[in-house]
Amino acid sequence: MHLRRTWCVVRDMVGGLRAGCARLQVKKFGTILNGLFKNQVTLKTKSLYTRSDPFCCGPEKSWSKPAGQDTGLKVFNSLTKRKEPLILAKEGAASWYSCGPTVYDHAHLGHACSYVRFDILQRILSRVFGINVTHIMVITDIDDKIIQRSQKDNISATALAKIYEEEFKNDMSALKVLPPTLYMRVTENIPQIIAFIKGIINNGHAYATHEGHVYFDIRSIGNRYGKFTGMSVAAYEQGEGGKRDIRDFALWKASKPLEPYWESPWGRGRPGWHIECSTIASSVFGDQLDIHSGGIDLAFPHHENEIAQCEAYHKCDQWGNYFLHSGHLHLRGSTEKMSKSLKNYITIKDFLQSYSADEFRMFCLLSRYQSAVDYSDTSMAIARSLLQSISAFIHDAESYMKGQLLCQAVDEVALWQRLADTKASVQKALADDFDTPRAIDAVMSLIHHGNCQLQVISKANGSSRSAAPFGAIVSYIRDFLDVLGIDVMGKKLLHSVDSPGLLENVVEELVRFRSEVRSIALAPQEVTPSNTKDGTPPGQPRRDRVPLLRACDALRKNLEPFGVHIKDRGTHSTWEISRKQKE
Ligand SMILES: [Zn+2]
Repeated sequence: MHLRRTWCVVRDMVGGLRAGCARLQVKKFGTILNGLFKNQVTLKTKSLYTRSDPFCCGPEKSWSKPAGQDTGLKVFNSLTKRKEPLILAKEGAASWYSCGPTVYDHAHLGHACSYVRFDILQRILSRVFGINVTHIMVITDIDDKIIQRSQKDNISATALAKIYEEEFKNDMSALKVLPPTLYMRVTENIPQIIAFIKGIINNGHAYATHEGHVYFDIRSIGNRYGKFTGMSVAAYEQGEGGKRDIRDFALWKASKPLEPYWESPWGRGRPGWHIECSTIASSVFGDQLDIHSGGIDLAFPHHENEIAQCEAYHKCDQWGNYFLHSGHLHLRGSTEKMSKSLKNYITIKDFLQSYSADEFRMFCLLSRYQSAVDYSDTSMAIARSLLQSISAFIHDAESYMKGQLLCQAVDEVALWQRLADTKASVQKALADDFDTPRAIDAVMSLIHHGNCQLQVISKANGSSRSAAPFGAIVSYIRDFLDVLGIDVMGKKLLHSVDSPGLLENVVEELVRFRSEVRSIALAPQEVTPSNTKDGTPPGQPRRDRVPLLRACDALRKNLEPFGVHIKDRGTHSTWEISRKQKE
């Protein structure tokens, strides 16, 4: 509320000043304003903000429910700050635009978290709800940060951007983030951007300055600006000058000497940051967009300005219907988000030295995508251990199905019921704003019940086996994880071996050989006049075969560090391969 009120004060101050020497004075007031906000001073000039004022009344038009197909899902829409039914303009198809990376440096885990979370949402939309998602992502390959870094590193902005774009794509691939339908680069859309800016000027919502900048004219849209709250004055661009209002933002920036530039009707320059997204999204999807996503830090001013530009250009009331924002990733114990400027980041490459993409994905699934999430080794250990529990259950269930694991009689009816209940709970959770923690919880509960039914016994007791429900459960869990992008059986591991499946076959043969040796070593001592002499009690392994058992144990232990886990179950042994754990 203070912000809005202060805006009224500022508007009047700035308005009064414009009569005088506008440019310098606006800058001064920007400074004063910053001081006001920092000190939380509220001017108590009541008359200033109680009268009818375009800045004080909130957005003129509230969100309207789009016409189209109700998907049955509910999503948290940042435009209304509540869950809304997800209605798509075209049946079975979603248009989705996301702000991609500014390619001037390595991507860090905070970025990874946002991209993985939205990848999960898109996979759920397409694989669980059968919605065809067209996802466009922009690569910001020209920007102040790119120019500064390229000047510092003494390479061209184009080369720098190419290097980091390639690295970003490799990082995303390593994290198993599906590529968008199309990546679009800003520098390949300059004519479209210039045409879009011209359109906004022609519609009376932008103006060019003598210096060759073009600014969006906030006042021209009345009180429609401000769809997202949480504005901070620091977020407003100070501008190069010639702004009519401090909130006005650049659509086109005149280039300084030695900076890359493009010719335009306003002179040599380059696009402002926000205009690229409006132009590129509109060039693919026209005047209506179903879903727009990005990190919560992009809501203001970036998305606010994208909306203003698109609605001004298309002369429409509602360009983007749903804005989905992901919460920040914090290092545990820190209240700050992970960011390059704060130098508290972990690069994706470094992270993947210690943990797998699947483990990170599980970490992301354990929180709601909008919530802020704490990152630490402990939270990663939880994710790792959940994956290990799932993998262990699948192996046990498979061993039971193969007849290698003897178990007590299983309550089949209860298992089938559990499976049906789990499917329903998962579907319900995912339709409720992609509640992945609740869905994971339902699946872990199914695994718990499955494990409870697998009560291992050492001798066959004649009870019937119930392979079918376990088969159905294993198949469901694999599908569920596959939808989310997790390969629980670690098949990716085998890519490092020349021939796919080679490692698996070698381990299978090794374990089979070991099992034979063990069963011979464990064969009970026969009672004969000759062997009673060595003192081994009847029913125990022969003393001369004990070294064989030791050798079998040593092999089991020695394979552990390589991620090959052998479990002895009576005379049978089962095995699984997990990712090699690095220090
Ligand atoms: Zn954007």
